[in-house]
Amino acid sequence: MTTDVSVLDKWIAAHPYLKEAADFEKIMSSVLDSSMLPDIEAPDWDAYTSELSAGVPLLRNDQLNERVFEQASRFFSLLVSGLANMNCNEVLRSGCAELYEKIQHNPGIALNLVKEAAAGREDGTGIPVSVSSGTIRFLGWRAIERANRSWRSSLENRLLDSDWNRAYCPFCGNPPSMAQLIHTSNGRQKFLSCGCCRTRWKYLRMSCAFCENHDQNRLDILEPENNEDLRLDICRQCNSYIKTYTNEGEEDIMLADWSSLHLDVIASESGLHRRAHSLYEL
Ligand SMILES: [Zn+2]
Ligand SMILES: [Zn+2]
Repeated sequence: MTTDVSVLDKWIAAHPYLKEAADFEKIMSSVLDSSMLPDIEAPDWDAYTSELSAGVPLLRNDQLNERVFEQASRFFSLLVSGLANMNCNEVLRSGCAELYEKIQHNPGIALNLVKEAAAGREDGTGIPVSVSSGTIRFLGWRAIERANRSWRSSLENRLLDSDWNRAYCPFCGNPPSMAQLIHTSNGRQKFLSCGCCRTRWKYLRMSCAFCENHDQNRLDILEPENNEDLRLDICRQCNSYIKTYTNEGEEDIMLADWSSLHLDVIASESGLHRRAHSLYEL
């Protein structure tokens, strides 16, 4: 995360109950940002035109995912070794120390765990570690996101020219975790944001991000108090909601999902169902 620290601190001061998640994010960001690993070269996205037209997420391509997963496995090892040496939760720290020792003996373990995380499988490697499968999935996606980071804006630019408009991520195939309204030459446009690989893509503004309902009488907006720039876009058809960032410029924190978990609590208390993908368990 490249978030300006002052923005993060201001957000936490206003939402102190998010401090633990914020501290964890800060640790992971410092580990990932300190990496000296060279970036992998961006693919020629035009070579994937047929996949994009057919609605096939790019990561299904074996050549591409091999490159991504290999780079991600290096970031995964870095994260595990970083957390093993950080002043974080003791169960997590000792679990990461144990896992890092195993990775040092067999680097292929990191690659397998990243692949398992990406496939949404749990514990398919048969390697006994005391780090929970949810945490491994989380670290795996952070590593994939970091591997992806250097080319994300070129991919997002390419997507502007595609007619993707689907309710799942064009890169990794997961459902969106959040939405954003962005000013474009055609007025305000809705984008969906992937909580796993953090790709953003254009979507139909007046449609539910999950069931594709576009009956305006069944769509609603909830603007919780004291949450400027964030609102809940509600679909009465499937009783779901998506958190929407209505401004621009602070995407790293505002689209990070964890920074607005309090809105998921408000939504749940209103009887709404979270269908957005989340790497955070409430
Ligand atoms: Zn994605
Ligand atoms: Zn819906």
